[in-house]
Amino acid sequence: MTYAERFCPHCGDKLCEWEAPPETWWGIILVCNNNDCSYFKGSNDEIAGKRDDSGLGTRYAEDPKLDYAPFNLLSWCPRLD
Ligand SMILES: [Zn+2]
Repeated sequence: MTYAERFCPHCGDKLCEWEAPPETWWGIILVCNNNDCSYFKGSNDEIAGKRDDSGLGTRYAEDPKLDYAPFNLLSWCPRLD
């Protein structure tokens, strides 16, 4: 199955296909995996209770199943790959 090429509106990078953990219902989603993305960098302050060393942040993501509706992917790793 192939998905449309989508680009992050915040940094212009091509969104990467990413298979979400099986305990989520997302399946394959498209994620901006750019650590320099302004959306990712600007997200840290918005997470209540975030530990400074956790690397937690939100990445820009789109769900192909919902007509590429954008949503916040809470990322617990510096990189997804
Ligand atoms: Zn981005």
